Amino acid sequence: MRDRRGHRVDRVLAADAHAALLTELLHTGRPGFVEVAGAPRLADGRLGSFRRNDLGNFVRAGRRDDFLERVRALRSEERREIYFTPATLRVPVPGNDSVDRVAVAWVDIDDARRLATLRRFGHRPHAVVASGSGGAHVYWLLSEELPGERCEALNRMLAAALGADPVSANRGRFLRVPGTLNQKPTRRGLAPTWCRVVMCDLARAPYRPAALAAGLRDPRAPRPAQRTYSPELGWGEEPWRALEAREYYRAIVGSEPRRDGKVRCPSADHLDRHPSAQLYRGVGRGWYCFSCGAGGGAVDLVAALRGYPTGPALRREEFRECIAELRRIFGVGDPATRSRGRHR
Ligand SMILES: [Zn+2]
Repeated sequence: MRDRRGHRVDRVLAADAHAALLTELLHTGRPGFVEVAGAPRLADGRLGSFRRNDLGNFVRAGRRDDFLERVRALRSEERREIYFTPATLRVPVPGNDSVDRVAVAWVDIDDARRLATLRRFGHRPHAVVASGSGGAHVYWLLSEELPGERCEALNRMLAAALGADPVSANRGRFLRVPGTLNQKPTRRGLAPTWCRVVMCDLARAPYRPAALAAGLRDPRAPRPAQRTYSPELGWGEEPWRALEAREYYRAIVGSEPRRDGKVRCPSADHLDRHPSAQLYRGVGRGWYCFSCGAGGGAVDLVAALRGYPTGPALRREEFRECIAELRRIFGVGDPATRSRGRHR
């Protein structure tokens, strides 16, 4: 651990000090709000509701004591899993749309075996938080603010390079607060484990985003092979409709699904630690999350990642935005210049 003056500090911290360290690093001097919410770990092992419409979840960014007070209140409730937003929100409303500009990049590494890759990575992070279930959350401060989309692209690139979870890249992401208990082991009758800061460097200069991204590839950038789907092949401007769920999942999420098609739920509102969603075999059969009920086709997958509703509830602006994103991903032309069907 290094303090702001660059002095080395090695000691065991009290629970509050872990949370304080991270909010000081990420939120000091930032505008807007931080969302801090808790959900109960239910008796059957699933995660209960975060009640994200509770105004009490939002504290002003940089107000350390308010942040700690909120964390303490949640910690006092039984079997509570406590999460926060590394990014700050323009308004006290949950979701990606509330996040305008971001000055931090992060990844969520679930697989402890991937931590060796992090050690070899050229850019030392500003903080590493051990999540309590073997993985780690890793944070890099940025020297300039990025628009949300660029932050997400940077997070995806870092995730791809480090073998981290590609689904955690969204700007409104929730991550576990250090200095709180991870209740997941209780599902197997074990004691909860602490989520804690294992490395923090307040003296390190923030990274230029371009320097951090140098040499990394955005897995979601359109790949030439996908351009073989063209209007001449009969699928018009919606080539994703010719694909099985696992194929468009690969293009949209940027990672390889398991052979059995089980994936962690893509919904930004569903912190699905074990794969609850199924990608079905066969064109048009789509995907479905058994835990939260999200599902549908390619456009619903984009919607879920953005925290939008899926299925018939996905409408108007949000639907159009998701179609536009699919067009970008699959490298098909500008919708304004061509006619197209409006159905999915
Ligand atoms: Zn789900």
